[in-house]
Amino acid sequence: MTFTDLGLHQNILRAVDSLGFSTPSEIQEKAIPIISSGTQDFVGLAQTGTGKTAAFGLPLVQQTDFTLQDTQGLVICPTRELCMQITKDLMAFARYQSHPNIVPVYGGASIDDQIRRLKKGAHIVVATPGRLLDLIRRRVIRLNTVNRVVLDEADEMLNMGFKEDIDTILEQTPEEKRVWLFSATMPKEVRRIAKNYMNDPAEIIVGKQNSAADNIEHRYYMMREKDRYYALKRILDFYPDIFGLIFCRTRRETGMISEKLEKEGYNVVALHGDLSQSQRDAAMKKFRERTVTILVATDVAARGIDVDGITHVIHYNLPDEPEYYTHRSGRTARAGKSGISVALINTREINKIRQIEKLIQTKIEYTPIPEAEEIGEKRMYAMMDRVVKTPVDEEAIERYWPVIYNKLKHLPAEEIVLKFISTELNALLEYYKNAGNLNAKQEKPVNREEGKRRNGKSSGKINGPTITFFINLGDKQHMNKGAMVRLVCSGSGISGKQVGKIDIHPEYSLFEVDQPAAPHILPAIETGTYEGKNFRIKISKEKNGRKNKERRR
Ligand code: ADP
Ligand code: MG
Repeated sequence: MTFTDLGLHQNILRAVDSLGFSTPSEIQEKAIPIISSGTQDFVGLAQTGTGKTAAFGLPLVQQTDFTLQDTQGLVICPTRELCMQITKDLMAFARYQSHPNIVPVYGGASIDDQIRRLKKGAHIVVATPGRLLDLIRRRVIRLNTVNRVVLDEADEMLNMGFKEDIDTILEQTPEEKRVWLFSATMPKEVRRIAKNYMNDPAEIIVGKQNSAADNIEHRYYMMREKDRYYALKRILDFYPDIFGLIFCRTRRETGMISEKLEKEGYNVVALHGDLSQSQRDAAMKKFRERTVTILVATDVAARGIDVDGITHVIHYNLPDEPEYYTHRSGRTARAGKSGISVALINTREINKIRQIEKLIQTKIEYTPIPEAEEIGEKRMYAMMDRVVKTPVDEEAIERYWPVIYNKLKHLPAEEIVLKFISTELNALLEYYKNAGNLNAKQEKPVNREEGKRRNGKSSGKINGPTITFFINLGDKQHMNKGAMVRLVCSGSGISGKQVGKIDIHPEYSLFEVDQPAAPHILPAIETGTYEGKNFRIKISKEKNGRKNKERRR
């Protein structure tokens, strides 16, 4: 099946061709012939990324008479971003029409500019419901010549509370218009619109309803709640080439996470409703142009965004509505590409995963959070890969060569390599030096008492006298026994057998060291950093003092 078989005119086919679409997608194949007949209303249910815009856009452009001044087409969609996207797509479809005027109107931008553009005569208006109503009330837009109405992402518009607005708008359109409705899901409210405002519509369902695209790999990672952010960082560090979208549940969380990541040197930008329109536009532009590689967003702000080549969708927190999971994940694996959907959950959220699995009829695979060594290794490979592939412009470098040569000539080749690697990776290696394991899955749910006992049990069996040390890192800084032994031993060079009882408290910890080994601790690791936090180690006066008293008694 080709686009020619779908009965599209020559100048539309040319536009399709210049967009590089060679074969129609399933929804396009099924919808375009019905819609093109111009005699029937239409309901199309298809998941995100299936090409719905062209499914209604191509026939819409074909059926518009661009020699008239009248507004004939009206597309209603939920968000400003989607509004701009659809307008852009329609302009591309109308590329070979003479003087097409397709005008987007949405809230948050200057209404005067939009009025000016509308006054020039819009053939097609693409609108968000609120602003459209505003313009109708100001009598700038009149719907009496409209003969095609498209409701895009109808389910989302209802989710966003546009129900009354849509009713009001549809009531003002002429009786004899056609309505084409597109939606990813078919809740009762969407049915009601179809029933009230449409005439015996043809209904097409593509793929499993609600199901996510097949070329998405679904994974979940499980950590304790307090480790959520650190787990996110590890995943980002593990995928140095990520071009990803991180979803948060609230605007506040979105702002917080993006700020924190930015402070720590990640290439991120935020998109949420608390930002001004120009900030949001700037954010989208940066992401689209890949000046930033990670977009942190709320569900509403990111709805309908169509950016090519997103490699990962990360659910920093799962959405309250399981259906949103599909909308989110659908941002990756678009236009035949593959992608990864990553959900971060705490130990109490596994039910949400099961619920979503049922909905998308796909298994979400448990995946362990990468450990420090894996991350280091991965980054090392990625870096070497980059080095090997970097083209060298010998001519340009030639004039600097004497200086470079002089600076480096006393270093052996191997050392130069080590130094270049270190320049790039020191910060990362330092951060992960004594990092623990963040996975919460293997942990059996122990009761508090048992947990304490386990914590308190000696790791090495030390028979002789010991010295107890204090460190200002505890459970809250996700210190654990394994990490403590690694930190103490790798820092001071003593062996694990020389470390005795370890007590992890919420804000600090105590560890015992075999007395002969104790003098090695403080000169080596009195201070340092652990997962980015500064720590300090002291001899515990209290413990050692009490022990002495006990001995004296
Ligand atoms: P939906 O509205 O269903 O979520 P879109 O209409 O935004 O999906 O299309 C998703 C992506 O697929 C867009 O980047 C679009 O350019 C591309 N696309 C649409 N139809 C085709 C096609 N027939 N061939 C190749 N790419 C297509
Ligand atoms: Mg769409």
